[in-house]
Amino acid sequence: MPDGTESESRKLLGRLRDTMAEDAAGQARLDKITHLTADSMGSEVCSIYLFRDEDTLELCATEGLKKEAVHQTRMRMGEGLVGRVARSGKVVNTADAPSERGFRYMPETGEEIYSSFLGVPIQRLGETLGVLVVQTKQKREFTSDEVYALEVVAMVLAEMTELGAFVGDTAALSARHTQPTMLRGGTGQEGTTEGHVWLHEPRVMVTNLVADDPERESERLAAAIEQLRVSVDEMLAGAVEDAEQLEVLEAYRMFANSKGWRRRMEEDISRGLSAEAAVEKEQSAARARMSQVADNYLRERLHDLDDLSNRLLRILTGQGKDTGASMPADPILVARNIGPGELLEYGRQLRGIVLEEGSVGSHAAVVARALAIPLVINAPRITTEALNGDHIMVDGDQGIVHLRPDDTVVTAFRDKIAMQAEAQERYASIRQKPAVSLCGKRISLYMNAGLLADLPSLENSGAEGVGLFRTELQFLVRNKMPSRTELVRVYKRVIEAAETAGHKPVIFRTLDIGSDKVLPYMKPTDEPNPALGWRAIRVGLDRPGVMRMQLQALLRASEGRPLTLMFPFVAQWEEFRAARAEVDKAIAIERKLGHVVPEKISVGTMLETPSLAYASNKFFEEVEFVSIGGNDLKQFFFAADRENERVRRRYDTLNVSFLTFLEQIVQRCSATGTPLSFCGEDAGRPIEAICLAAIGLHRLSMRPASIGPVKSLIMRTDLDALYDVICDARERGEQSVRGAVMEYMRWQG
Ligand code: PEP
Ligand code: MG
Repeated sequence: MPDGTESESRKLLGRLRDTMAEDAAGQARLDKITHLTADSMGSEVCSIYLFRDEDTLELCATEGLKKEAVHQTRMRMGEGLVGRVARSGKVVNTADAPSERGFRYMPETGEEIYSSFLGVPIQRLGETLGVLVVQTKQKREFTSDEVYALEVVAMVLAEMTELGAFVGDTAALSARHTQPTMLRGGTGQEGTTEGHVWLHEPRVMVTNLVADDPERESERLAAAIEQLRVSVDEMLAGAVEDAEQLEVLEAYRMFANSKGWRRRMEEDISRGLSAEAAVEKEQSAARARMSQVADNYLRERLHDLDDLSNRLLRILTGQGKDTGASMPADPILVARNIGPGELLEYGRQLRGIVLEEGSVGSHAAVVARALAIPLVINAPRITTEALNGDHIMVDGDQGIVHLRPDDTVVTAFRDKIAMQAEAQERYASIRQKPAVSLCGKRISLYMNAGLLADLPSLENSGAEGVGLFRTELQFLVRNKMPSRTELVRVYKRVIEAAETAGHKPVIFRTLDIGSDKVLPYMKPTDEPNPALGWRAIRVGLDRPGVMRMQLQALLRASEGRPLTLMFPFVAQWEEFRAARAEVDKAIAIERKLGHVVPEKISVGTMLETPSLAYASNKFFEEVEFVSIGGNDLKQFFFAADRENERVRRRYDTLNVSFLTFLEQIVQRCSATGTPLSFCGEDAGRPIEAICLAAIGLHRLSMRPASIGPVKSLIMRTDLDALYDVICDARERGEQSVRGAVMEYMRWQG
């Protein structure tokens, strides 16, 4: 196609469209496309290789190679030049294929006589579906125009594949999005569930890929971009002072005005693509780049471009977000990512959530936990694989998703769900009972909370109260700073819910922001080590405005009832004193304003840094209670970042050093009579919980869903005997007592 490239490629695309319109079997269509492409490109060979499974490419149609090789020749990802294109997602263009790195000759195809090779990936929305190849006898490199033309054909092929144009009974392809698929991601919230897919962002389907009238398409594109620009400007004008949102909108504006983006789409149109197809081609290229970019900032910008392309496609196709599909009765939400506010809007109607991205500490994960909805994060390709209404099973314990599962998986999975339901029933039967061990020790079990969505758990989990109310969550799920009035309303609801549930106590922790908890509307601070940086009480004391506002809201919400407060991340006595003084100031202000103040206020502290464990006895005498924040304490004890997947599971909580350290804290508190509790995630893990109880931590606060399993195990354990097991393991020089504890528990049955 060296001359008259544009009109040639338009002609080719026109012929491809006719092929699609013909009532033919899938294989016949594939054959015809290879014929048309070879003919139009002036090459002797054109072949289509498509993935048969995740790792195997199959020659599905060819013009020029031996026909017997079709559906016989297969190669693995990365194998030969075709495999190289598939793996890298990049074009291979060579005049002398046999001397190329990685060349593998496949005798059954008869390709030995062809010298030049041009392979381009067949990609849709960043996912590689196969490889399109042309070959010639003549030793020559293909021109950039030819490469471009073949890429356009590949794009159309990808879209046709998506639309099921090659589906057939015999050797042709099976329809996409019909096969059972298992995706492995990470755990965001435990629990297993089954339901049907509900796409947060339904895909826009482009059916008119090829267009005859480039001028008209170009006008349509121009009009759509103009509409997009106006809407982005409007969004910017109405945007709140939200740094992150502004950054995204500025990026939108930059792309919407980008000449390069526009020019590439114009080029695609001039070669015969419709405006929609041109947008999608660009979107696909951006997605493919996304998977290769390691830099977070760049990835975010590519995501912005992806979102913008979706908006443009919606304008062009007239397909709104509302596709007319109704939400299934048992929806499992599937999204690339989702903000906490949007997730709260869906609320408890969701059976499960699967995200293509996300992290354990993300705000969406926090909300999913509060709602006790199983969540799998980092599920690769889920947004391109899943269709609205697909049957889906989510294993939040293992971080696994089964999409369109087959019968054996369904049976096994349902067994698991049934077993869990049985266990839940068992836990329900002991809900009202106290957690008393076999040796007669009474362990108090509290729940952690932070959202109003947590409140129903006060009744149905059997929690004795809220051992940790993370007040920052109310700040994190909003896109602007909540007002004092709003906070008073929220805190009142919490206090009242606890009262109705049987006068249960609530420990409010003051704002713990910074590190992994970044408020979207606060100016981000660029710190080399945020976990060791300006966070929690440090921010509260340096910029007391917000803390004062919060303390006043808490005092006002209590309406004279007793109030319990605790400060996060206190590293030395002085910080506690300064924060305590803020409480006194807030009381004085409230009195002056004529509000009633609580009849009794208890003020304690979290113990999250090793330094505080060694504070003087006087400190322990002064604080009214101490709660060990095991998540942070463990990260600082082992110097292992709790957010870093590489190290966060590296050190065992039951490591002898850590347990001994915790035991020392128990001893110090008991010497001064300071009430002590433990409220990190480990409190909710049954084996860890009984070990904590055995070393003297008799008050544990955990996720509501963990209370049943923890109580059940405590009631079956002799904590004195377990303590002996721990001591023996320690004396024997074991690194962790886990092995010994597990063996003892097994032996106990
Ligand atoms: C902790 O650090 O253990 C804790 C309970 O606080 P957070 O997880 O909110 O940091
Ligand atoms: Mg903490």
